[in-house]
Amino acid sequence: MSRAPRAGTTGSTGSRRIAVVGSGVAGLTAAWIASRTAHVTLYEADDRLGGHADTHRVATPEGELAIDTGFIVHNRRTYPTLLRLFAELGVETQPSEMSLSVSDAGTGVEYAGALGPRGLFAQRSSLRSLEHWRMLLEIPRFHRRARALLAATTGTSADDQTLRDFLDEGGFSAGFVRHFVEPLVAAVWSCDPATSLDYPARYLFTFLEHHGMLAVFGSPEWRTVTGGSGTYVAAVAAGLQEVRLETKVTSVRELADGVEVTDGSGTTTRFDAVVIATHPSHALGMLESPTDLQREVLAALPYSSNTALLHTDTALLPSAPDARASWNFHRPATEPAKSQTQAGRSRSVGSDPSLRGDDRRVSRPGARPEAGGVTVTYDLTRLQRLPTRTRYLVTLGGEHLVDPATVIDRMEYEHPLYTPASVAASRRLPEINTTRIAFAGAYHGWGFHEDGARSGLAAATHLDLPWARTTPVLPRPGRFETTIRHTRRSPFRRSFEHRSTLWLVDLDDLPDHGVLARFEARDHLGATEATLRNNVESFLAVNGVSLGEGPRPGTILMAAHPRSLGHCFNPISVFWCFDDQGRQAGVVVEVHNTYGDRHAYLVHPDEQGRARTDKAMYVSPFHGVDGWYDVAVPVPTDRLDIAVTLRGHDTADDRTATDRTDGAAGTAGTDRGSAPFSASLVGTRSDIPVSRTIGAALRGTALIRAHGIWLWARRLPVRPRPQSPHRQEGVT
Ligand SMILES: Cc1cc2nc3c(=O)[nH]c(=O)nc-3n(C[C@H](O)[C@H](O)[C@H](O)COP(=O)(O)OP(=O)(O)OC[C@H]3O[C@@H](n4cnc5c(N)ncnc54)[C@H](O)[C@@H]3O)c2cc1C
Repeated sequence: MSRAPRAGTTGSTGSRRIAVVGSGVAGLTAAWIASRTAHVTLYEADDRLGGHADTHRVATPEGELAIDTGFIVHNRRTYPTLLRLFAELGVETQPSEMSLSVSDAGTGVEYAGALGPRGLFAQRSSLRSLEHWRMLLEIPRFHRRARALLAATTGTSADDQTLRDFLDEGGFSAGFVRHFVEPLVAAVWSCDPATSLDYPARYLFTFLEHHGMLAVFGSPEWRTVTGGSGTYVAAVAAGLQEVRLETKVTSVRELADGVEVTDGSGTTTRFDAVVIATHPSHALGMLESPTDLQREVLAALPYSSNTALLHTDTALLPSAPDARASWNFHRPATEPAKSQTQAGRSRSVGSDPSLRGDDRRVSRPGARPEAGGVTVTYDLTRLQRLPTRTRYLVTLGGEHLVDPATVIDRMEYEHPLYTPASVAASRRLPEINTTRIAFAGAYHGWGFHEDGARSGLAAATHLDLPWARTTPVLPRPGRFETTIRHTRRSPFRRSFEHRSTLWLVDLDDLPDHGVLARFEARDHLGATEATLRNNVESFLAVNGVSLGEGPRPGTILMAAHPRSLGHCFNPISVFWCFDDQGRQAGVVVEVHNTYGDRHAYLVHPDEQGRARTDKAMYVSPFHGVDGWYDVAVPVPTDRLDIAVTLRGHDTADDRTATDRTDGAAGTAGTDRGSAPFSASLVGTRSDIPVSRTIGAALRGTALIRAHGIWLWARRLPVRPRPQSPHRQEGVT
């Protein structure tokens, strides 16, 4: 089936004609970008688009469900290219639940991580198991040592250290290796656990660190595409000029002034350039005259084909109900307990010739171990929050274990195998593009969806196809090193400056470092029992501002100190609120005083981020509640700028009626109000570790108080606090 060239599709198409071969995420991203400025023809051999973005429409008693069996989860921290695509397409996503269970029939151990104590002690006997306690205590040490290895200079012997050697050197217990490390690596990479121990530790840790998995707290919030990943596939396809389904490309021939693409029916079409977004062996197979380097590199990137079953057989889940999680690792009793010995003593596994050289594999999701090996079962009902009581499961590697009567569908997925040789070859991938042919695919990175999307972007960029920005870019969460300055101009001049740190966080993905750094609703506007996101949304709604439709529309970013070691104080916290289209819908500036009161101001800044609002709360003993604030809260970039100037205070007569605008911008600097006091915060984005941010709020409070005492000692007149102070004026 093919779709004829479409008239009136979105995006402006120039005279260039581009072919994209393969409609996985890599091809779709390249095609989407190219379609903004060129005429695109997308070829797909299969009878559906999407590749590993594979949504099954299953008829159930509760109605039709859209169940993802390939690509399932992503997050807002480490999938920027995919998210940019989703934002342009208006694709909605929703929070998922990422938890991992381990059930080991060989040792009888069952537990789940990320589900709290109930999951960790799903078997009550674990409370009395010294080995279980030891494993739990070894986890933070493993994280610490792994981060230290990453911090070590590259180009040293640390680069070649295998995971096995790393565990051996650290003296980790056999139980820890068997019940924590192997399941973690096997579930993320769906690989044979013993094999994974032979892989370079730094490579694995880089991925785990990148995805927030090298810490007990602080993992990103994982999300799924609302309605299944097929939603975004359909949205991309709807914006392309031409889609040729069930049209397998058999040959690509590069000419001096173009490229000829021939499909299975023998039809040859001429294009200006082509993106080949299939797996490497297919790409090599279609090149009519591959260069030596193309042949060498593409042939060194093996893939394997594996079976995945969509079914409802819950026998694949742990028997302890509290141990059931989103991802479920199962090791059968027959699987040899290779790591029951100390990690170092299990070296004999690595010396098995069948695990050496090119057979030493670490594979992407979907790898099928031998019969009797481990299985990984995804619980899609849980991951996608499907509205049903039936558990819809996808099992990789356990075809013989699943009751055939429960099988809904059977899929074959091909995915990259990672060997030391393939990792070396992949470093040369950027060199194999030519003037008119660019290659893309998740194999250009770690094999995940973001890798595919990023490679599609890189291929389009190589062919000079720009990704014109159609949506604003939302600020990236992060930490900032800041300088805070308070300047008082009357009745005498006095400045005070100190350095600190501040976080910029996405309210849908709040970092959680436990007692060290956590963002809690009780420290900000609204109800303590609600979430921060709900409280800001309610405040916006009361003020007539909506971020869009759906359960959690738009994005809200907050600049604030976290609660740390039981203390939280933010003289000012700022919430930048963006609607579904990425447009700024308003900024909430929340002011706190040291008496425990707070007040939220909603402002609508101008292009420079400037706005004005009447002062409404008693903040400092040296000022009343008269006057107004000029605030500057530009959208953060790699700089964070927040400035507040108190004007009109004590000089209210200076202030004309036309100067007063509630939140309207543009008059700063033109008013006649005096500015007895101003405060500014200037921040620079920084990779400072969480440990360096601990106590920043406590230090800030102490400095503000000390400064107040200094001013009081110099007889700065004190303004009495109003009789009926409020805790949360501005919030209903
Ligand atoms: C079970 C499973 C679960 C996963 N879960 C996640 C997850 O939760 N999160 C995540 O980030 N990643 C996940 N991944 C990994 C990720 O989704 C994939 O690696 C990625 O989507 C691959 O994208 P791709 O474009 O490189 O290839 P593919 O999606 O495989 O697309 C290649 C396309 O090319 C087509 N093609 C091949 N040859 C030709 C030809 N000659 N002519 C025309 N078309 C051709 C194929 O039919 C296919 O549609 C998962 C993978 C699997 C298998």
